[in-house]
Amino acid sequence: MKEYDVIIVGGGIHGAGVLQAAAAAGHRALLIEQRGIASGTSSRSSKLIHGGLRYLESGQFSLVRESLRERAIHLRIASELVELKAFFIPVYGDTRRRPWQLKLGLWLYALLGGFSASTRFGGVPKRDWPTLDGLETRGLDAVIRYYDAQTDDELLTRAVIRSARELGGEVSVPAQFVGANLTEDGVLVTYSKDAANVECRATVLVNAAGPWATQVSRTVRPAIPIPATELVQGTHIVVPRKVTAGIYYVESPADGRAVFIMPWHGATMIGTTETPYQGEPDRVKPLPEEEEYLLAVVRHYFPAFRDLTREHITSRFAGLRVLPAATEEAHHRSRETLFSSDRKSRPRVLSIYGGKLTGWRAAAAQVMELIGPSLPVRARRAATDSLILRRTS
Ligand SMILES: Cc1cc2nc3c(=O)[nH]c(=O)nc-3n(C[C@H](O)[C@H](O)[C@H](O)COP(=O)(O)OP(=O)(O)OC[C@H]3O[C@@H](n4cnc5c(N)ncnc54)[C@H](O)[C@@H]3O)c2cc1C
Repeated sequence: MKEYDVIIVGGGIHGAGVLQAAAAAGHRALLIEQRGIASGTSSRSSKLIHGGLRYLESGQFSLVRESLRERAIHLRIASELVELKAFFIPVYGDTRRRPWQLKLGLWLYALLGGFSASTRFGGVPKRDWPTLDGLETRGLDAVIRYYDAQTDDELLTRAVIRSARELGGEVSVPAQFVGANLTEDGVLVTYSKDAANVECRATVLVNAAGPWATQVSRTVRPAIPIPATELVQGTHIVVPRKVTAGIYYVESPADGRAVFIMPWHGATMIGTTETPYQGEPDRVKPLPEEEEYLLAVVRHYFPAFRDLTREHITSRFAGLRVLPAATEEAHHRSRETLFSSDRKSRPRVLSIYGGKLTGWRAAAAQVMELIGPSLPVRARRAATDSLILRRTS
């Protein structure tokens, strides 16, 4: 039977990050992915490496500070994959947040980002409004510009996997985790590969199965604690029109929620929605009413998009956020990553719930800190904040 220090379930950004961090720390590590690398949430996000400006409103300052730090690290180690972009917030007579509120928020954002050059912000002068891709100027009071970063989530995940492999991390895909039995000092793991069951041993099992994490946790024997979470669906659509000046951060005219209108491969991507989801994670797909909601947003702000209907949509995708169970609306809930283990000291199973694409490296570092006491001491090979990530295709 093969033995590993760490076995990871899930080839999304979190699983990739933990594989890289474990391999960099000198551990023998294996990642099991059932479909394809980044086939789950990590190819269906808004593709932003951002501090999360709106999390300031819910007081998640430490999350914003950490995300801005991670954004700066990405711009250094993943410059082929992560690009700083101008973001525009148009303010009309009926926009909920006024220019002074936005500027105050952006000042706080800059403070949490250490007032680095990438945290600069200001108003776009009226004479420059015609450069904003045909943005509706009737009733427009101000346009605020700041900077955040855009990536390709799937390519980023693949790049992290490549880096992990170069450090000796193993990947088995397609391979489906079936179950695990805890022993006094580790875990017996069963997964299926090529229609046969494979058994191996790990000192620690890391459950990075994203929206499937609860299902994975339920297969562990004896049973482990499982935090109460909910799934919230987010849909994006792509339409064959161009915006080029940057990313527009607008309020939905229907309910005031924040929506992004972004350049994407020569077209425009619009997202996202927040729809509670109760079904199987495999079955998530964009709903017609979500597509109409997103089209209504883009039509409202860009007169040249007013003829667009659902027939014009060239691509659509939906992903699932894992949020702590609560009564308030999804956009007010914590976006902090939640870690849960089978026991406080020397954990044998550690599960990751929720989190952000932006925070994958910090989350992986935290996982290594939590499972460190369970693992044997090995010679470190590298530090993840200085490993350069390259495009794989
Ligand atoms: C709509 C939306 C927009 C978002 N936008 C942003 C954004 O712009 N910026 C940002 O920072 N964050 C964003 N996020 C958050 C971010 O996308 C997620 O936190 C992140 O992608 C989650 O990655 P993950 O690895 O935890 O899960 P996933 O990417 O879902 O990976 C889990 C993997 O586990 C595999 N798996 C499941 N069960 C098994 C099994 N039994 N055996 C083997 N493999 C298994 C799945 O196939 C899947 O590939 C967004 C999220 C959503 C939903």
